[in-house]
Amino acid sequence: MTETELTGRVALITGASRGIGRACALRLAEAGASVVVNYRQGAAEAEAVCAEIKERFQTPTLCIQADISVYEQVEQMFQQILTQWQGLDILVNNAGIHRDGLLARMSHQDWDDVLSTNLNGLFYCSKLATKQMLKQKSGRLVNITSVVGQTGNAGQTNYAASKAGVIGFTKSLARELAPRQIAVNAVAPGFIESEMTESLSETQRQENIKKIPYARFGRCSEVAEVVLFLASDRCQYMTGQTLNLDGGLVMN
Ligand code: NAP
Repeated sequence: MTETELTGRVALITGASRGIGRACALRLAEAGASVVVNYRQGAAEAEAVCAEIKERFQTPTLCIQADISVYEQVEQMFQQILTQWQGLDILVNNAGIHRDGLLARMSHQDWDDVLSTNLNGLFYCSKLATKQMLKQKSGRLVNITSVVGQTGNAGQTNYAASKAGVIGFTKSLARELAPRQIAVNAVAPGFIESEMTESLSETQRQENIKKIPYARFGRCSEVAEVVLFLASDRCQYMTGQTLNLDGGLVMN
């Protein structure tokens, strides 16, 4: 594969200070893109991702703090990107959180926090990216959803609702942007090794592994590879789709 396939493209990855977002930032930079590493709190981690990109790939990179659930902060982030690079070609809507608990005991705050980041953040970033991509007459959006948005999961009504919402959003925006050849696709990871799954107990982990045909959790780099494909010109004639990356956990 050509490692310069994204040279000259600008990519924003939300929540790129660690986990899946970090892996996407590194992989897209390796493919030549100028990458914006967005984060909310983990400044040191995000700066480390940018430093790694500069050292390993010598590609331009920008570290931007912005809470994607706050529209004003997203607006400022886009202003900064457009001032620096005058364009945006790829948006990876990756930042996401979970606040698990049974519905009867779920606080309104836990419901709101998950929906604000996972859906409002998706809306804010996609709206501003779409505006720019329509001007450029090109672009790619890749949204990170979850198998939980397809199957549901006890204790995750808020998270599952948000991730099912990501899939509906992806299909609708794909239909809106198809006449302009701007592709919008989603990736649905299953269990991936990251901070998000570190909270599982060893028993929960083993129980989950039993359900996965590949009998292991996935790696962030494996998700990043699919994201790179969806963001690249190798992916043509495909929009509104959700690709599962879950070791066979959900077979549609
Ligand atoms: P993670 O390790 O918890 O990382 C989440 C990232 O999102 C961090 O960089 C965090 O930055 C950032 N973030 C959170 N809220 C934000 C906000 N409001 N504004 C900006 N950035 C924010 O999670 P992950 O496992 O890599 O998950 C990444 C995505 O994949 C999420 O959408 C998640 O739902 C999805 N997913 C994960 C799995 C899995 O098994 N890990 C499975 C299916 C789907 P700060 O620390 O600075 O806040």
